[in-house]
Amino acid sequence: MIHDVLIAGGGPAGLTAALVLARAGRNVLVLDAGKGRNAPAAHAHNVFTRDGASPLELRRIGREQAEGYGARFLDAEAVHASADAKGVQVRLADGTELKAHRLLLATGVVDELPDLPGLAEAWGETAVHCPYCHGYELRGRPTAVLARGERGVHLATLLLGWTDQVTLLSDGPAELSTEQQAVLTEREIAVREERLSAFDVAGRQVQGVLFASGERMEVGAVYVSPPQHLRGSLPDALGLARTDTGLVKVDETHRTSVPNVWACGDLTTPMQAVQGAGASGLLAAAMINFDLIAAGTRYKPDNLLSTIS
Ligand SMILES: Cc1cc2nc3c(=O)[nH]c(=O)nc-3n(C[C@H](O)[C@H](O)[C@H](O)COP(=O)(O)OP(=O)(O)OC[C@H]3O[C@@H](n4cnc5c(N)ncnc54)[C@H](O)[C@@H]3O)c2cc1C
Repeated sequence: MIHDVLIAGGGPAGLTAALVLARAGRNVLVLDAGKGRNAPAAHAHNVFTRDGASPLELRRIGREQAEGYGARFLDAEAVHASADAKGVQVRLADGTELKAHRLLLATGVVDELPDLPGLAEAWGETAVHCPYCHGYELRGRPTAVLARGERGVHLATLLLGWTDQVTLLSDGPAELSTEQQAVLTEREIAVREERLSAFDVAGRQVQGVLFASGERMEVGAVYVSPPQHLRGSLPDALGLARTDTGLVKVDETHRTSVPNVWACGDLTTPMQAVQGAGASGLLAAAMINFDLIAAGTRYKPDNLLSTIS
């Protein structure tokens, strides 16, 4: 059987795309291998009408609603994919081979947490990456930012909207220019360059940071700006072009550099959020739907975006 669209990834991006494509009468199969990036968090914030909902519950409802229109789901990992002008092939971890006219990658990214004891336990609760997602709940606490250079200055000054007690921990040289140091001094943000040994965590609550010297500093929250990589092997297997920050390069319709392969969600943008992922899934799905229509007719619009409504 040849599916109209295979979607790899059942997070907010893939689920939104599945809903749109199923409602457009497309034969769509979603492959999903796990829980998604925000699974460690109990609540998802800044989600229209669903602020504070559980990420797992949002996914459960998203899947149920897409299934209601005929989308199908496989709890399986896609391990290989290839594509050409005729269509796409995807191989699952158990060896099953699937074929489709189009492939939509919504496989997300992986945060590479620093290897410091305590951090993983508190991740998503009091050790976090995004003030917009968690700042309100953690407001007013003595807060550490674990970062260096420009990223550290940005995150530390941004946090002043939520707390006036911010310390930048660089776990080594802070890599700050004289100007950047002056900005932090002016905003009363202390910089500590000493090596760290661990975070003191009770349950999922960060209570302090431990320096290699043995000193302990009390904090109630830590913000980390971890590097990321794309989740899974499909982007490399397909040879997708990347941006200079390593994300998948897409055009304004979410088409990648490889024929018949599209991408949406976190793996395509630095502005990574539940609702943004959903919005890009919506756009990608509409564009794929029209691309399939165009493939079956002589109507070839110069600009797919002009076909939106
Ligand atoms: C701790 C934390 C808390 C967050 N809190 C918020 C918040 O409050 N509000 C907010 O807006 N954003 C929040 N975010 C960001 C949000 O989680 C992401 O922006 C969003 O999940 C991106 O959706 P996505 O569909 O692109 O990817 P994901 O949600 O990561 O979903 C990708 C899916 O693809 C699957 N997958 C990957 N590879 C394969 C494969 N090869 N085969 C099959 N399946 C595969 C994965 O298993 C996963 O289910 C948070 C992030 C983190 C880390």
